[in-house]
Amino acid sequence: MYYNDKTVSFYDGKFLKSKDTGISPYSQSLNYGLGVFEGLKAYQTQHGVRIFKPMEHFARMKKTAEALHMKFDYDTAELEKIAYELLERNKLKNAYIRPMLIAADNMGLMAGGDAKLFMAAWKWPRYLGDRLLNTCISPYVRISPKAIPVMGKITGSYVPNIMASTDAKQRGFDEAIMLDEAGCVAQAPGSNIFIEKDSMLITPPLGYIMPGITRATVIDLAKALKIEVRERIITVEELLEADAAIFTGTATEVAGIASVDGNLLKLPFNKSQCARIAEAYNELVHSVHEPAYTII
Ligand code: PMP
Repeated sequence: MYYNDKTVSFYDGKFLKSKDTGISPYSQSLNYGLGVFEGLKAYQTQHGVRIFKPMEHFARMKKTAEALHMKFDYDTAELEKIAYELLERNKLKNAYIRPMLIAADNMGLMAGGDAKLFMAAWKWPRYLGDRLLNTCISPYVRISPKAIPVMGKITGSYVPNIMASTDAKQRGFDEAIMLDEAGCVAQAPGSNIFIEKDSMLITPPLGYIMPGITRATVIDLAKALKIEVRERIITVEELLEADAAIFTGTATEVAGIASVDGNLLKLPFNKSQCARIAEAYNELVHSVHEPAYTII
């Protein structure tokens, strides 16, 4: 699904067939989860293929690598250029792009050595589909920011998220909602969350959650649409009593939530402010953004 014999990816300084990367089983990323990745999305717009907010994604990746003491020499403009070239080489228009910084071979527990950049792209439908989602509160809590920096996508920090999504699916739900250690609503395994009450949007504050680029975009869109937004703690009771709710993320985009633990949210989704946000986001990503490089 992610690659075939012809797929090209970028690895350790060059474009090569994905099947030929020969990624090392001795890498600290594979052994201990010390790795940083990102997820970007490209869209076909009227004026060509455009990656949505590439600088924000690559800047987050670089900041996260720095926090993990991983050497990462590419600057954001170089990364953007590689991403566009990857799309062109694979003839992709609407696609998901996955850069990953893979740690050096090291069986010890000190970070260091030369990490290698891998970047791949593939066609991927919306991560949680297009239907309204039936969700559940997960028994697995969001990882503590005191254990792992939460400012970016760190490979090892995804284990609780995988546990949460797998548990949700096994119990017949579409997706999980993870709480923080204090029992307040944090986020979904691969998306941020907003609830709606009395036409106002509320989302958990930064600190415990992934500072989602889609989350920031949704806050800006809400302001432009004159929808009030608050960043504050959300209790489980508030979530269950919400008029509507959405997950947000690059791969998820803006996905509506139908129910939580079997409780239907109060409003028909199409009557909610959340639905206006979903429409505005869809319009925005398909509009033209100026890339630093126009290859396609
Ligand atoms: N939280 C987690 C754990 C994620 O992996 C993601 C991205 N898939 C998000 C939130 C949403 O972040 P963004 O909007 O930057 O894609």
